[in-house]
Amino acid sequence: MKRYFISPDQKQYRANLHSHSTFSDGMLSPEELKRAYREHGYSILAITDHEHPKSHAHLSEPDFLMLTGYEAYIRTNASAQFDRYEPEVHLNLFAKDPQNETMICFNEAYVKYVNDPVERASLRRAGSERPREYSVAYVNEFIRTAVECGYLVSYNHPVWSMEDEERVLSYENLFSLEIQNYSSYRQNGIEYSGALYDKLLRRRKALFCHAGDDNHNKGPLSCPRSDSFGAFTMILSDDLSYDSVISAMECGEMYASMGPLIHEISMENGIVHVECSPAARIVLYTGSKAPKYAVPAHGETLTEADLKLDPIAPYFRVAVIDESGKIASSRGFFRSEFNA
Ligand SMILES: [Zn+2]
Ligand SMILES: [Zn+2]
Repeated sequence: MKRYFISPDQKQYRANLHSHSTFSDGMLSPEELKRAYREHGYSILAITDHEHPKSHAHLSEPDFLMLTGYEAYIRTNASAQFDRYEPEVHLNLFAKDPQNETMICFNEAYVKYVNDPVERASLRRAGSERPREYSVAYVNEFIRTAVECGYLVSYNHPVWSMEDEERVLSYENLFSLEIQNYSSYRQNGIEYSGALYDKLLRRRKALFCHAGDDNHNKGPLSCPRSDSFGAFTMILSDDLSYDSVISAMECGEMYASMGPLIHEISMENGIVHVECSPAARIVLYTGSKAPKYAVPAHGETLTEADLKLDPIAPYFRVAVIDESGKIASSRGFFRSEFNA
C-alpha cells in the first residue's frame, strides 16, 4: 500500500518562522513585515523578537496568519554580553495559544527590549528567575519550562551559534532544528545543518526541521543583500487557522527550503518516490554513509525520483537540490512511521 509523507493533495502554505521587528532589533514594524511577506506570496509569519514575547494576532486575516512567539537566548556570561568569539544558544518559542506571551526564566540582563515599565511589570513569567547558566542542564530546564508553558521550541542557526556539537546532541524536547537560516547564510555562506540533523536523527532525537529568514531588514527590501525572502518553511495544513497551522507544525507536517519545492514524498514496496520542482539532485539520507540519490542527464533537470530504501535504515529524509545549489529538506521519518 502506498504511504504518503508529503501528499500532493495537501495544501502547502509558505511561512517565515523567524523574523525581528521594531519590538527588538528589527527595522520594520509588525505591520510592515506582514505587508512585505504577504506581497511576496507568504501566508504565515512568526515575529520572533529577542526576549520579547508578543502576540500580533490582531494582524491576522483570513488569508494571512501571524504566529505568536519570541527568540530566547543563553550566553556564556551572566551579564549576557554579546561576545563574537563565544558560543550561545538561541531558541525560537512558538506559542500554541496565540495569546500566550509568557516569558520563560525572566532575567533582567536579557530583557533589554521590553522598555515600557508597565509592560515589563505585567509580563507573565514562568520558570526560575535566577541568572541564566550556560550549561546543558540549564538549557534543558529552560526548554522543559517553555514546553510546559505551551511553546514549541526550536534550536536556531547552529552554525552561527558555534556550540560544541555534543552539547546540541544533548538537548531534549526540541520540536525542530532550524536547518537553514538566511540571515546567517548571507554572512557565512554555510548556514545549512544537514549533517547535524542526521547526527540528531541517528541519536533517535525525534525532532523536525524548518528554515527561516531571521530578517532584521537593516537595508531596504529591494536591495539584493536584503535578509528577507531567502529561507522559508512550507507548512502542510488544512487551512490557515491558528490551531490547524500550529498542530501541523507540532506533527512535523512541514519542510524547509531556500528554493526548491517538494510536491510529494511517498513510499511503496520499499521505494521512496519524490516529486519536486526542477532539481539537479534528489538525495535520500538514511543515516548510512552511502545515501541513495538521483541525478539527471547532463544539462537536464529532474522532477521526480524513485529511491530504494535500505531495509535496515532506521530513518529516512529527503533533500532536493536545484541547479543553483539551493536545498529543500524534509524532516526525518523513523522506522516506526514508515513500517506502521
Ligand atoms: Zn538568533
Ligand atoms: Zn533571530
